Amino acid sequence: MTEAATDRHVVIVGASLAGTRTAQGLRAQGHTGPITLVGAEAELPYDRPPLSKKLLQGEWSESSVDGIRLATRAELEELGIELRLGTAAADLDPQARLVRLADGTTVRYDVLVIATGAAARPSPWLPESGVHQLRTLDDARAIAARLALGEPVVVVGGGFIGTEIAAAASGRGCAVTVVDPVPEPMARLVGPEIAGSLVELHRRNGVQTRFGVGVVGIEGKAGDLTVELDSGERLAASTAVVGIGSVPSTGWLAGSGLKLDNGVVTDRFLRAIGFDDVYAVGDVARWPHPGHGTDVRAEHWTNAGDQARYVATAVTQGAAAGYEPTDYVWSDQYDWKVNAFGRRDPAGHSVVVGDLQADGRVAVVHADASGAACGAVTVNWIRALNQARRLLAAGASAEDVVEAIRQLP
Ligand SMILES: Cc1cc2nc3c(=O)[nH]c(=O)nc-3n(C[C@H](O)[C@H](O)[C@H](O)COP(=O)(O)OP(=O)(O)OC[C@H]3O[C@@H](n4cnc5c(N)ncnc54)[C@H](O)[C@@H]3O)c2cc1C
Repeated sequence: MTEAATDRHVVIVGASLAGTRTAQGLRAQGHTGPITLVGAEAELPYDRPPLSKKLLQGEWSESSVDGIRLATRAELEELGIELRLGTAAADLDPQARLVRLADGTTVRYDVLVIATGAAARPSPWLPESGVHQLRTLDDARAIAARLALGEPVVVVGGGFIGTEIAAAASGRGCAVTVVDPVPEPMARLVGPEIAGSLVELHRRNGVQTRFGVGVVGIEGKAGDLTVELDSGERLAASTAVVGIGSVPSTGWLAGSGLKLDNGVVTDRFLRAIGFDDVYAVGDVARWPHPGHGTDVRAEHWTNAGDQARYVATAVTQGAAAGYEPTDYVWSDQYDWKVNAFGRRDPAGHSVVVGDLQADGRVAVVHADASGAACGAVTVNWIRALNQARRLLAAGASAEDVVEAIRQLP
């Protein structure tokens, strides 16, 4: 059981999805004490998924940027949330309950919520210019300006973000090549049953792939880059976008005594190990996942919002039960809507329902070793996904989920 009170000073470090939703959630739960939201970016909080989707797909406009804000300044003021934007937290003294900011000031807390998320894993290739990465609004602005030129783009990394950027770039008329050292990178995203169709979709849209091939170096400058592959091939590009994963933003916590291991390690209540008044939420948190039986750090939008709501409730009302994740993620690839939830059990099996080529939609239902449903991936079939989620929550077998999806119109 976690301690509860509604009048403590809650300091939230990280003013993006998890941080903003924690602040809003605290007020929604009746928190009356002061709330301070500290953010390294000067921008008002915004949503990241549209950065690799609609913001890159069309002409860049600052009015579409307004549409992805998580809150307006007025809304946050009305909630009595003190904003400290454009100032990173520099270090933490949990014994004194003090956060020191990069501007030299300190903020004292009763409860600290760490929501510093993750940053793009730095590109090991740094030519004079022309290499981009995507994590922030400014990154997206810079990439959008390059895509608008319609010149050749090499995307390094065939994960969700890399493939979404490839789809957007080809839609803007750029010749695109995606490079990934893994032979079937898209299988990591959607599973081996659908990966081939996803690669086909990219090819149909003019995107070339070099899978199972690594990048040795990138040389030149914006407009005139050469991407050298370990196969010996040299790809000419105007722009390179490197999407090779992300790393949790925990540098400011070094020396704090918090347990850091690929994120801030927490207990099942999302409290930093050994510090009952310090929570971690969102992409930075690594917590014991009840379904996986191991510590997990998720980099998914739904998880960040759910953890924020959980901690807001834990701080104000207390929590008797640990955090239960939804494990849901989606991706937009051209006109395909890919949705996945739950997990694939290596000891279990998966069943395919539907045919992407014939019906334009498909569902893959995962069973664990006992035959119980443990997850699903769907393409263009949200009803199947919702059906599977409902039945999985009720403890149905994978066989029953498959049968129920087959009955859908
Ligand atoms: C381009 C892109 C597309 C995505 N698309 C999808 C998608 O389709 N589906 C999906 O499920 N997920 C998607 N995600 C992932 C999703 O956006 C993240 O899971 C979510 O943003 C996590 O929120 P967060 O608040 O935990 O962390 P973040 O969004 O990383 O925010 C952390 C904030 O903390 C700030 N910060 C860092 N260090 C400090 C410090 N020392 N002091 C103060 N502030 C600090 C950072 O500047 C940042 O603003 C996408 C992510 C990206 C980048």
